[in-house]
Formats: sequence, C-alpha cells, structure tokens
Amino acid sequence: MTALHIGRSFTGTPVEDNCPCPKAPCGLVDVENVHPACDQHPFEHAKTMRQGHPADQCPELTDGAWADLKLGTLDSIIAYMEATEEDAWRVDTVRSADGTTNCFFGHLFNMGVNDARGNALWSGFENLWASTYMVYPINDGADSRYPQATPKQRVLAYLRDLDSGAAKNTQQLLEEDYAYYLAGEKEMGARTI
Ligand SMILES: [Zn+2]
Ligand SMILES: [Zn+2]
Repeated sequence: MTALHIGRSFTGTPVEDNCPCPKAPCGLVDVENVHPACDQHPFEHAKTMRQGHPADQCPELTDGAWADLKLGTLDSIIAYMEATEEDAWRVDTVRSADGTTNCFFGHLFNMGVNDARGNALWSGFENLWASTYMVYPINDGADSRYPQATPKQRVLAYLRDLDSGAAKNTQQLLEEDYAYYLAGEKEMGARTI
C-alpha cells in the first residue's frame, strides 16, 4: 500500500502551512506521518480532505525518491515481474535490439516508465537488493541454486528469497565484507606489534 499526500483546501496549502505535521515536498501532509497534536490531519478528527495524491505520484517527487518508495519492499517489483509474459524474457543481454524481450534489469527499467526513473530504479535496486553480478547468472540459468526452467521463474524465485531473507541482499553482503575487512585489519595490526 502506498501512502497518500493530503490537503484540506481545494487549492494551495493554507491549512498545512499552519499545522504541526511534517510536510511532503509538495506542501501537503503524508497520511502516514501526521503530528499527533494536529487538529486537522489525523484520521480521528474526520476532517474533509480536498486535495490528495498517492505518495508515489507526488508531482514534487525526485526520481531517486520515487525509486526509494518503490524499493522499500519487493512487493511491487515481484507483482510487476509476475505480470510479465514468459516469452518477454531473455538471457545473455539486457534487452533485444527491437526492445521486445528483456532480462530482469530490462523489465525493471521499463517499470520506471521514463528513462530517468528507469535508471533510478535500476541503480537503487543494485544498491539495496542485488547487483547485476548477483542477478545475471540467475536470469541466465548459470546459478545452480535456481534451476527453474525459465528466466522469469528463476528471477521470481530469487526475488522471493531476497524478500524473505533466504538470499542476502547487497547491503547485508557489504556489511559482511566490511566485517571481514576489519577482522583482517585487526589481524595485520596484531602481527606488526
Ligand atoms: Zn496537520
Ligand atoms: Zn505530494
């Protein structure tokens, strides 16, 4: 479920400008982030809202912030990939010359609808969830942990493992690498004393 930005006026933000709620970039209030002392926006006051849009359609949202909203969980990505046609998937390259078939990252890019958001989604996914180095072998059927018959099925199995924690995401692997590096540094230090 995506959050909503709401406002009490038909135009402008006169009520929001004078209430204690934190404001979204558009000047409206995020329903999931109201101030408990506000007498206008918390649900229990049952006030009429006259403006609003889903947080992921906020006109002031930057491409990066939009991607972050999409990437908080894998739900929307899994749903999107489930809805793709099996024969719209390919292996070995990101997309076909005519653009009709894509690997996972080609589909992810398309989810962005325009190039800026496609790129933001792609790089955000690599930073938070899994890099191309982690996904390509699974997409292409070169990873024995994912023996499913098609690239779509292999990637979906992997996305569900990332979602459940059965597969480690980019952030967890970075932390492990860093801990390993620190342990190595310590050992080096001990040796030189
Ligand atoms: Zn408020
Ligand atoms: Zn907004």
